[in-house]
Amino acid sequence: MTQLKGHVSIVTGSTSGIGQAMAKALAKQGSNIVINGLGDQAKIEEERAQIAAEFGVQVKYHGADMTKPDEIADMVGFAKREFGRLDVLLNNAGVQFVSPIEEFPIDKWNQIIAINLSSAFHSIRAAVPIMKEQNRGRIINLASAHALVASPFKGAYVAAKHGVLGLTKTVALEVATHGITCNAICPGYVKTPLVESQIADTAKARGMTPDQVMKDVILAAQPTKKFVEFDEIAGLLVYLASDAGASVNGAGLAIDGGWTAA
Ligand code: NAD
Repeated sequence: MTQLKGHVSIVTGSTSGIGQAMAKALAKQGSNIVINGLGDQAKIEEERAQIAAEFGVQVKYHGADMTKPDEIADMVGFAKREFGRLDVLLNNAGVQFVSPIEEFPIDKWNQIIAINLSSAFHSIRAAVPIMKEQNRGRIINLASAHALVASPFKGAYVAAKHGVLGLTKTVALEVATHGITCNAICPGYVKTPLVESQIADTAKARGMTPDQVMKDVILAAQPTKKFVEFDEIAGLLVYLASDAGASVNGAGLAIDGGWTAA
């Protein structure tokens, strides 16, 4: 398991859920990691030390707030300063808010666009010169099935994720001759804290019980009637990050049990 030995990867929003699992998946392949995200500092330090010990790689934490362009650029510079290179940029940090459009709080709109869309612009903008210098790089945006299709009450999230896919395609065209690829992974529902809190919010917005939301809203969207697993996303991520993924560029790759086939 050393496909990425000696590589350096940044995973934004890796103190929870998918990002945490993806940081471990990249570390398992031998990549050094910059983890990032919000949370209790002692718990984050525990995670950092645990990944380093389990996979025998170097793991460093950068606390950039994904709403702050200067901090995002500093995080990318930190990877280069600490490790001398940057091979994989995984833009994963994301938040959700569910509300009918006419009541959608303006501050929530601004926050979701900043974290789920603009942060990817700022990190990519800072990473591309480093990757061009290396003549190699992998930019991977953790988008969503909501980059491809919509659901009601998720105006900001769906707009941001569609935007991320547009940004992915544009960057892919700009970097293609520099040994760099840019792709979006578009998962269906994965059972993480983000989805667990959505169950309660959706229940409120639609006047349903949490059980009805699980059955009739979440699993209704996924033909497999199963959540997407971390390992399934990790397999795609490692493929994209490896040499074998060199010709996949500008793609929005659905991993959603068939949701967006309908
Ligand atoms: P999560 O809530 O478990 O984790 C979100 C991560 O983002 C956390 O580490 C959090 O600290 C970080 N974060 C939030 N705001 C931040 C900020 N301002 N600055 C820095 N970090 C910040 O969520 P998750 O379900 O693991 O989601 C991860 C990504 O996957 C998101 O982009 C989400 O949209 C996407 N996604 C999730 C699902 C799903 O079903 N869970 C499906 C498709 C796509």
